[in-house]
Amino acid sequence: NRCFYFNDIPSTNAFMLTHGQELKSGDICLAEYQSAGRGRRGRQWLSPYGHHIYASLYWRLEQGMPQAMGLSLVVACSIVTVLKQMGVSGLGLKWPNDIYLNDKKLAGILIELINSAEQACQLVIGFGINMSMSASQGELIDQPWSDLSTLESMPDKTELVIAVHKQLKQDLKRFEAAGLKDFIDAWQADDIFMGREVSLLMAPNEVTGIYKGIDEQGAVLLQTAQGLQAFVGGEISLRAT
Ligand code: ATP
Repeated sequence: NRCFYFNDIPSTNAFMLTHGQELKSGDICLAEYQSAGRGRRGRQWLSPYGHHIYASLYWRLEQGMPQAMGLSLVVACSIVTVLKQMGVSGLGLKWPNDIYLNDKKLAGILIELINSAEQACQLVIGFGINMSMSASQGELIDQPWSDLSTLESMPDKTELVIAVHKQLKQDLKRFEAAGLKDFIDAWQADDIFMGREVSLLMAPNEVTGIYKGIDEQGAVLLQTAQGLQAFVGGEISLRAT
């Protein structure tokens, strides 16, 4: 695989989206700083210069879009698996794409589609992990955040990137072969909302219920007044009530 490395770039996802036609599954782009790091729905991923991880992996799903649902859950599980192997505890997952440490956001995932016109589907899987963020660097983040610097032994950034790259390739192949079912238990074990009352926002609608985990399609399961319901879609946000 190839690795494209930048000191300074607008967005690693944007770079990979532009170069999709020349890439092979597993190629990766890394940067020390992003001037326009992206989040879901046009939101921003704050990407100060320092020791943080900003990365985007190119992947081609041969079986096309239906498989792509649940992909961000697999990616989050891969990153958590590696962090746990490196001795990190206190990790949590929030559907569909966030990793928390001690209840504060540590890492984000943004999956963007290059094209799904043909049968295969080309994706860019971006992830950002806060390594050691100063209070002033984090000042602009509009929700509680965390980084890995509070740990007794902080993982080495290069080792972490290499291990995540390897784990992602392995898990994405497994996902392509068998779907999400192999990942459901791992996801639910760390899901921060299991059993809690949550509200699910799908503007302009809001649904409240008890969070029951995920199904094999990666949809959220909520026990509502109407019974057990599954919800899926890129526009959904979950909040504790
Ligand atoms: P939410 O976490 O509110 O559900 P989301 O999953 O829709 O949001 P993401 O795309 O994961 O959004 O991330 C964007 C959001 O993450 C930003 O709006 C901001 O609140 C927060 N954020 C931005 N940069 C960072 C960072 N470096 N570390 C932690 N959180 C960040």
